[in-house]
Amino acid sequence: MLSDNMNKVRGILIGRMQPVHNGHMQIIDKILDEVDEIIIGIGSAQLSHEIKDPFTAGERILMMSQALAERDVDPSRYYIIPMQDINFNAIWVAHVKMITPPFSIVYSGNPLVKQLFSEEGFEVRQPPLYDRLHLSGTEVRKRILNDDNWQELVPDATVKILNEINGVNRLKNLSVKEISDI
Ligand code: NAD
Repeated sequence: MLSDNMNKVRGILIGRMQPVHNGHMQIIDKILDEVDEIIIGIGSAQLSHEIKDPFTAGERILMMSQALAERDVDPSRYYIIPMQDINFNAIWVAHVKMITPPFSIVYSGNPLVKQLFSEEGFEVRQPPLYDRLHLSGTEVRKRILNDDNWQELVPDATVKILNEINGVNRLKNLSVKEISDI
């Protein structure tokens, strides 16, 4: 491992993490095998209380930091940074660079994210997909709404935070259409 801060190899992973699930944690394990430090961007930080984006950036930061602690990841090896969306894709990479420590490798399976960073000269690596059929935020939210076993798809930390914030009820309430919408 390199000790000089500016020379450390850093990778970045940006995701909405609605909520943090086991797929995110498996990619993070893999990234930590490849770089000195990881920057974990909590994307669409301005969004919450929507059916596809139910949890606040702060709640997602708690899920992620506690999930990393559960895995005994050394806190000096990661940064968790909330990232608001901006309306202009062409300058999004500059926006991300402004709010993060320097990084050289981008990890993403999201086509737009990969396109924008590769156009700016970054090395983009596509991590393997871990059980994508089940390990996705969409599947976790669907199971929560259907009272299916969502807990098996997420770290204990996500279960704990959702319990603390009454997250299951929040999602269910958000899914109820107002009479005026019907
Ligand atoms: P996500 O939480 O769905 O996924 C995060 C990452 O984890 C992705 O790279 C995804 O491929 C990977 N992943 C998820 N499940 C996995 C699994 N089972 N196995 C392996 N990998 C898995 O989030 P996302 O939609 O990719 O997040 C991108 C963020 O960047 C969003 O918040 C988006 O709004 C933001 N963004 C903003 C702008 C802008 O503001 N102009 C532009 C581009 C992207």
